Amino acid sequence: MAKKKYDPATAIQKLEQFGEFGDVNPSITDSATYTFLHENVMIDAFQGGAEGCFLYSRHWNPSNKYLSDALAAMEGTESAWVTASGMAAITTAILQICNAGDHIITSVTTYGGTFAFLHNYVKKFNIDVTFVNISDIESIKNAIQPNTKVIYTESMTNPMLQISDIPTIAKIAHENDIKLLVDNTFTPMIISPFKLGADIVVYSMTKFINGKNDCVAGAICASHQFINDISNVNNGTAMLLGPVLDPLRSSSILKNLATLHIRMVKHGENAMYLAQKFKEIGLKFNYPGMSDHPHHDLMNSIMNEGFGYSGIIAIDLETAERAAPFMELMQKKGVGYHAVSLGYFKTLFSNSGRSTSSEVPIEIQQEMGLSPGLIRFSVGLDHDIERTFELISSCLEELAYI
Ligand SMILES: *Cc1c(COP(=O)(O)O)cnc(C)c1O
Repeated sequence: MAKKKYDPATAIQKLEQFGEFGDVNPSITDSATYTFLHENVMIDAFQGGAEGCFLYSRHWNPSNKYLSDALAAMEGTESAWVTASGMAAITTAILQICNAGDHIITSVTTYGGTFAFLHNYVKKFNIDVTFVNISDIESIKNAIQPNTKVIYTESMTNPMLQISDIPTIAKIAHENDIKLLVDNTFTPMIISPFKLGADIVVYSMTKFINGKNDCVAGAICASHQFINDISNVNNGTAMLLGPVLDPLRSSSILKNLATLHIRMVKHGENAMYLAQKFKEIGLKFNYPGMSDHPHHDLMNSIMNEGFGYSGIIAIDLETAERAAPFMELMQKKGVGYHAVSLGYFKTLFSNSGRSTSSEVPIEIQQEMGLSPGLIRFSVGLDHDIERTFELISSCLEELAYI
C-alpha cells in the first residue's frame, strides 16, 4: 500500500492564529452573548447566515473556533466543533445522524461509556444496534440493513487494541449510503481517519490531545455541512442539547495541542521500550507496535509516519485477583497512578474489565476475549523509562509472577 504522506503536526503548525492585539496566543472570548449593530444582521445570524458573526456561546464562541480550526487542520476536515466531554462528542454525532427506528453497526470493543450508550440508552429512541467484531469484515457486511445509518468504530479499540481497517470499512459504508464514524482518541496524529475515508472523527480530548488530566473535553471533526447541521438553531443536536466546551478550557487545550506531536512520539517510544522488555521476560501482553501483533501490518499500512504506535499497552495477568496487588504495588513503588484515563504525562494503569469496560456485561467481555486480568497501561512521558521498567519488574518479582 502507498505510504501516507499526511502530516497532521505540520498542518497545525502552518496555522497563524493570534489575538486582536497581536497576542501570540489568541485572545480568550469570555462572553456568553455578542452585540449586533444592525437588527437585520442578527436576524440573518439566526437563519444560519451572517458569516463571521457570533451569536451566543452555546452556538459558537471565538475561542472554540480557534481550537476547532486547529483540530480540523489536524484531521484534514473542513470543520470541527468542540464539546464538554468525549461522550458529548460521540452522543451528539450519533444522535444527529440517527432518527427513531434507525440502525447502527458498532465494534463490540469500544470505550465502556460508548458501549453503554449504544447498548442501553439508544433503545429509548427505538434505535437498533448490532455489535460486531470490527476485524471481521464479513460480519460488518452481513449486519447491514436498509435502515443502517452509522458504522461506528475506534481506530485502535479500547481495550483490545485491535486496529480498524478504516479504508475497507469506509468503502463498505459508502457503497451502502452509511456514514462511518471513528473515535480516534487513542491515536491522534498517528492515524487520520478522515483521510482514510471516515466521514466523521470524534475525540475525547481529555486523553492525549490535552494530555494534562485537568479537564474533560471532546471534539467532532467533519464537513462544513455536518458541523452546520449540529449547530443549527432549529434542529441541531449540539445547539439544542447544549454540550458546548467552555471557552477558557478551549484556549488552554489549544496551547497543549501545539505539543501533541512531540508527546505522541515520546509516549510511543516509551511504550515500545516496555513492550520489548515485556517480551524478553515472557509477559503476556498486547501492543500494536510489535511485529507479531495481528494488526501490526494493517497499522503500518494506514498510519502517518513518524508518530510511533501510541502509548497504550495491555498486559494480561489472567485473573483480577492477580492484577489487583500488582497495580497497588506499582503505585506504591512509583511506577505511576492506579487510575482510569490515558494520555497523561504520568503512567496510568487500571484493570479494564473492572473499570473502564465494566459497563460491558461479563459474557460479552468473555466473547470479545477481554481477560479479567487485563491491565491497560497508558505509558507516560518518563525520561528514564529503563528505571520504570526496573520498577515494574521488581513488582512482578516481589509477587512471584516472573
Ligand atoms: C475516555 C474516552 C471516551 C470518553 O471521553 P470523556 O472525555 O471521558 O467523555 C471516549 N472514547 C474513548 C476511546 C475514550 O478513551
